[in-house]
Amino acid sequence: MRVSGPRVAAISKAVANRLPPPRLATSATFRDGQGAAIDQGLVLYFAGPASFTGEDVLELHGHGGPVPMDMLVQRCVELGARVAQPGEFSKRAFLNDKIDLTQAEAISDLIDSASQQAARAAVRSLSGDFAKRINALVQALTELRMYVEAAIDFPEEEIDFLQDDALKQRVDQVEQLFVRLQHDAEQGQLLRDGMVLVIAGPPNVGKSSLLNRLAGYDAAIVTSRPGTTRDVLREDLHIDGMPLRVIDTAGLHESDDPIEQEGMRRARSAIANADHVLLMSDAVRPETAELAGEKLPDGVPVTRLVNKIDLLERSSGARQSAAGENVLYASAVTGEGVDLLRQYLSAQMGYSSVDGGKLIARRRHLQAIERAFAHLVIGKDALFEFKAGEIMAEELRLAQQDLGEITGTITSDDLLGHIFSSFCIGK
Ligand code: GDP
Repeated sequence: MRVSGPRVAAISKAVANRLPPPRLATSATFRDGQGAAIDQGLVLYFAGPASFTGEDVLELHGHGGPVPMDMLVQRCVELGARVAQPGEFSKRAFLNDKIDLTQAEAISDLIDSASQQAARAAVRSLSGDFAKRINALVQALTELRMYVEAAIDFPEEEIDFLQDDALKQRVDQVEQLFVRLQHDAEQGQLLRDGMVLVIAGPPNVGKSSLLNRLAGYDAAIVTSRPGTTRDVLREDLHIDGMPLRVIDTAGLHESDDPIEQEGMRRARSAIANADHVLLMSDAVRPETAELAGEKLPDGVPVTRLVNKIDLLERSSGARQSAAGENVLYASAVTGEGVDLLRQYLSAQMGYSSVDGGKLIARRRHLQAIERAFAHLVIGKDALFEFKAGEIMAEELRLAQQDLGEITGTITSDDLLGHIFSSFCIGK
């Protein structure tokens, strides 16, 4: 159990009958208000500011188990502590300048990481690599802004300055930094959030078989009887570390059965929320490629997958897609074409598995980078097309502000509330 704040010393003395020297694990009996033993364990004291939160911190290491744990919490509450809110330790660490926002978020992302690659990336962000990249860009923007502002302050030199190649070079350099950061943040966000793939199509084309093949075990019931899958089924997998949520849906077809109709309604709703739809058909029943009367929503990328190619004659030729065609061929039963499908899917998302040294990133980071980048572009046009140095300076300032939201130099209570509320309690 972890306690943080000004009453830590008093709580330690009351519960463990001592305040050990900082950072020295000391064994003790934890006692309740009547002096009865609750548990035996280790007391660890960290004197602020040299602690995780920056405040005095006490850790009581007991044997665990909900009842003694609860009694210990009760005892600390009697002594003036209160139960922490989700992420409150990290939030205090942030508010006390022990970590920045990207590091705080990385703690949560590390705990929630779904693959080793994501965990490694989260640790990199946790150790401050992402923040360093942001700060380097903020620094470059500051220097550029000072350069531009100097020219505004000395108008007689402004004309020369605007023709200055050095200025163009500086702007180009900052642009390059943006492009690289944006790419890495995109990769980091894919590593964190991955993609949602919906498998859709008429009954009996092999949708559930494909889900099982991708999952590597029998997640869904497969039968030769149409209409077995009536609800949506989800499996969380990954491709080279990128999370992939695969959703198997009820077969889309004409039906009066209310259960099937509800299944299809859920299937359509899953399709509308997908990052990618795999529209499956059966190689030996070409008519399954036509989804009668079904209109898929615009804006969701769709790939056609012709399944059961194992049933085709080897010589029939229709097993490989022609260049430029987004039709894939596979057999969920033999596994043929499934590796290609995996590669295709990660490529579709723009995910690169060879890109080493990834950082973990979130959608909000990407959005902030995009906004900041847009300010640079507006400022650049103002400067080079209209010689409007003042506008450039102002746009650079706005770009810095957007980047500041990522690390948390600029924050709102709303944003902090939103970020920390998704943490686990005690982190
Ligand atoms: P769904 O209704 O679209 O989910 O289809 P299922 O996965 O339940 O499969 C329907 C039937 O087709 C089952 O009998 C499967 O064994 C069979 N099937 C699925 N994929 C393949 C395949 O690639 N090759 C062959 N030969 N049979 C398959």
